[in-house]
Amino acid sequence: MTFLFYTILAVFGLIIGSFLNVATLRYDPDRGFLNMRLFGGRSHCLRCRTQLAWYELIPVLSYVFLLGRCRHCKRSISLQYPIVELFTAVAFVAVPMRIESMAYMFFSGVAGALSAVHLAVSALWIAVFVLFIALAVIDFRHMIIPDFISIALAAIGVALAGVTQWFGGFSLLHGSFMGHYAMILGFRESIWVNHFFAAFVGLVFFGLIIGLSRGRAMGWGDLKLAGALGLIFGWPDIVLVLMLSFIIGSIVSVGLMVRGRKTMGDAVPFGPFLVIGAATVFFFGFRIMSLYFGSFGVV
Ligand SMILES: [Zn+2]
Repeated sequence: MTFLFYTILAVFGLIIGSFLNVATLRYDPDRGFLNMRLFGGRSHCLRCRTQLAWYELIPVLSYVFLLGRCRHCKRSISLQYPIVELFTAVAFVAVPMRIESMAYMFFSGVAGALSAVHLAVSALWIAVFVLFIALAVIDFRHMIIPDFISIALAAIGVALAGVTQWFGGFSLLHGSFMGHYAMILGFRESIWVNHFFAAFVGLVFFGLIIGLSRGRAMGWGDLKLAGALGLIFGWPDIVLVLMLSFIIGSIVSVGLMVRGRKTMGDAVPFGPFLVIGAATVFFFGFRIMSLYFGSFGVV
């Protein structure tokens, strides 16, 4: 039963992933997200405009069998297609597994992987990851984080805080991906205060960076996204999300500069790094904290 459940989720993830490819490729920063023509218009090769047959549109598989080239004009197909499809499928499977492994159900007294709590929390987090993938691709291509995505993420953050409050509050694995390490850092009186304080931390942090760099280092899109991430992750997880995204962002930027792909003055979109930081905390937050504290001999 569980295996079938996850297989269906994986297939569903591939389909949503190929839908995300269409959405991110058709996204036009001037028209915004909601005025986009998502449906209609047969899929065609972006280079030679030949309409594609159904067997050229199967997620991941078509790319592999066509060896990454259009069957008609032989020019290469963007790697974005299989990557986005694979990442979405992985998110659809790995997110509910992670929630299950966190024993959400155990703490709320509802046993079983397919309980209502598990499904509700997993569905919300899958939606978060789908939006993460869309925003990473759009920020990478257009250097912009659509408000629509940040607002949707903020709304899901409020819903997640509500679900957490409803099903046990801080007793749900201490209300944090850091597990019991979160207890040291306070703000544990109310889930709502905790999550809104985290949003405030994200906004102020990016506000300071924008102010000090006079808008050159980060943009308002990053600030709004950081606020939404605060609502989703709560305190103190938001701090780890921000730290990791800056560490990963600096490593990649230095790497690009060393390889001569970018110079100091070039802007690097920061949204993808916030997404990577957030995903890392979701999947490995507790492990990172135990490694860190373990190195001092503290459990
Ligand atoms: Zn072609």
